[in-house]
Amino acid sequence: MSGEIDGKTESGTPEANFTLSNNFAVVMGDERFYRLFGEKTLYTFNMLIHPKDRQDFESFMESEDVAAYAVVRCMTANDSYRWFMLEKNNEQVKSEQMTNIHLKDICLVSARFGLYMDRIRKYRAVMNMIQDKMFEYNHHTGIFTIYCYVNNRSEIIEKDDLKAWEERMMRLGFIDEKQQAAFRQLCDNIQAGSESFATTLRTTLMSKGERMDVLRFRGQTIYNGEERVLTIGLITEQGNRMTGTDILLDSAVVNQDSATGVLNKKTVTDEATAAINLANVAGCDHSMYLMVWDIDDFKQVNDTYGHYFGDEVIKHLATELNRAVANRGLVGRIGGDEFLVLLKEANGEDTLRSLLKAVRKKLKVDLAQEKPDYEFSASIGISQYGKDGTDYETLFKIADGALYIAKEKGKDRFIVYDKEKHGHLLTEDGYCHKKTAGVDFMRPIDKVELSTNLMLKVFNGGMDVAEEVLMELMDKMNIHGMTIYKAPSMECRKTLGHYEKEPGTQLCLSEEKYLARFDEHHIHVINNTASIAVEYPQVYEHFKQNNIGSALQFSCMLNGQLWAVFEFDIFGANRRKWCQDDISAIYSVVKAIADVYKKFYEQK
Ligand code: GH3
Ligand code: MG
Repeated sequence: MSGEIDGKTESGTPEANFTLSNNFAVVMGDERFYRLFGEKTLYTFNMLIHPKDRQDFESFMESEDVAAYAVVRCMTANDSYRWFMLEKNNEQVKSEQMTNIHLKDICLVSARFGLYMDRIRKYRAVMNMIQDKMFEYNHHTGIFTIYCYVNNRSEIIEKDDLKAWEERMMRLGFIDEKQQAAFRQLCDNIQAGSESFATTLRTTLMSKGERMDVLRFRGQTIYNGEERVLTIGLITEQGNRMTGTDILLDSAVVNQDSATGVLNKKTVTDEATAAINLANVAGCDHSMYLMVWDIDDFKQVNDTYGHYFGDEVIKHLATELNRAVANRGLVGRIGGDEFLVLLKEANGEDTLRSLLKAVRKKLKVDLAQEKPDYEFSASIGISQYGKDGTDYETLFKIADGALYIAKEKGKDRFIVYDKEKHGHLLTEDGYCHKKTAGVDFMRPIDKVELSTNLMLKVFNGGMDVAEEVLMELMDKMNIHGMTIYKAPSMECRKTLGHYEKEPGTQLCLSEEKYLARFDEHHIHVINNTASIAVEYPQVYEHFKQNNIGSALQFSCMLNGQLWAVFEFDIFGANRRKWCQDDISAIYSVVKAIADVYKKFYEQK
C-alpha cells in the first residue's frame, strides 16, 4: 500500500525524524522513517542522497546554523528518488556528535501549500462580497488598519498608529460627545487584544465628518500560542446605509507622506481646518500660528548635490519639524519642498521664534556635516490665528503671502505677517494680492477662469470695456503696468497701471530685426530686461527708467500689417519669470481685444 510506504502521518504529511552519526550512519529513526526507507536504512544516509544533491547534503551536515535545512532527493524503500526537505537541530545533540533530522516530503508539502492558497483565494472571494469594512490591529507594530475588498484587492481606508487614529478621530470631532467613552473603550479593547468584543457607535468617522452612521464594531483576537498577534473585526452599518465602496474610497486616505512620515497634504489640511474650527467653538487660550516652510533654491540643491541628498534634506527638515512641534501642533508636507506647520500651543511669539531658531540652526549644522559647503536655508511665512483670520483658508493665504515676501527679501528668513509692515495681502474677493512684484500666486485653473471671463466681457462689451478688462487682468495677475504702442511710429498711446511717468514716446519696436524676436504667436517674452541692453539700448533705457524688470510683448496685426504692440510689465528688482500660464492667460485676453478692434476697423 503506497500510503504505508509513504509514511504519511495522520494529517497526511509524510514527516519523519531520525538521527545520524558523524559518519552519516542511521543511529535511529521513528516508525515513519523506517516505513519510508525500509532496508535502505542499512546504508549510510549519504549513499541514499542523489549524487547531484550530495554536496548540498554534506554542507547541510557541516553547517553550524541552529536551524539549517536542505532540499535533496533521497532514494526510498521502493528504489525511487523523491524530494525531501531536511531540517536539523544542531543544538540538542551537538555534544554527542550526532545530528537530529526532521524530514518532510516536498511534493506533499507543496500540495498542502496549494490547498492553503486555494483557501486564501476562497476567503478573498468571500471578502469581496462583504459590504462591511474590516479592521485589523497588529500587536507587533501597533498599526491599525481599516480596509475593504474591491476587485480581490484590499483597499485601505485608514492606516495609522492606533493611538494616533483614536486621538485624531476625537480631535476632529468625528465621535459624538455621548459616544466618546464607548469609543475609547473600543480602542482599549482593540489595543489590549480582547478575546472578543462588540460595540455600537453613532459616529461620522467613516465619512470623515460628513454623515452620521450607526456602526457596529465586532472583533476578536488571533493568538499564536500565548501571544496576541492580530485583532481583527468587521464594521457593519446598522440599517445598511454604508453600501458600496464609493463613499469610502472617495475619502480613502493613507494619512502619512510616505517619504517623510509627516502628515500628507490632505490630512494636514483637514486637521488644521478642524483645529481652527475647534478653536472658534471652544476658544483658544494660547497663541496659534500657521506656518508655510519652503526650502530655498532647492532645485539648485538637487542639481549640485544630487537628488539623493535633496531627499535627505527634505527628510531631515520633516524630522526636525516633527520633533520641535511634538504634541503642540501638526506638521505636514504640502509640496515637494514645502511644509505646513500649525503650532497650536505657543506662549506668544517667543515660543514661535525659539522654535524657528532651533529648527533652522539644527538643520544648518547637521546638513553641513554631510556636505560641508551646503548651508541649509528655508523661507517661512507665518500667520496668526485670531489676529490675521479665524478660518484655515485665510490663514493659509496670508502665511503663503508672507512666505513670498520672505523669498523676495532675499530668502533664509521668516516673516510673521504684520499688516502695518506688509500691507493687505488679501483682496475682498479672496485673491492673495501681493504688493510686491514677482509673485505667482494664482493656480493655473484660476488663471484660465480669469482669462475666460475677461474674454467674454470683451466679446460682449466691445471696445468700450477694453480698458476696464486690461485693468482687471493686471490687478488680478499682479502686473504693475502696461503700455500700448501704436504702429507705425510705435509711439506710446496708452499706459495703464502703476507708472509714475510716461514711458518714452517712441520705441524701435517695429524694426524688422526686433519683430523677429516675436514667435509665431506674436509673443515676445523678456524675462530679464537687462538681456536686451546691448542690442536695443533705447528699449532697455526705457525699461530701466521705469524700473521694469520683466516684460511680455504681444504684436497685433491688422490686415496683414503691424497695428500695435501690447506690453505688460513687472517692476522692481525682482526678475520674476513669466510662466507659461501667465503668457497663455494674457495672450487670450489680448487676442480678444485685438479681435474686437479688428472688427471695428474692418467695418469702418
Ligand atoms: P525657491 O527658493 O524660490 O523656493 O526655489 P526652489 O529652487 O526651491 O524652487 P521650488 O520651491 O519651486 O522648487 C522645488 C523643487 O524641488 C522642484 C523639484 O525639482 C524639487 N523636488 C520636489 N520634490 C522633491 C523630492 O521629493 N526630492 C527631491 N530631491 N527634489 C524634489
Ligand atoms: Mg523651494
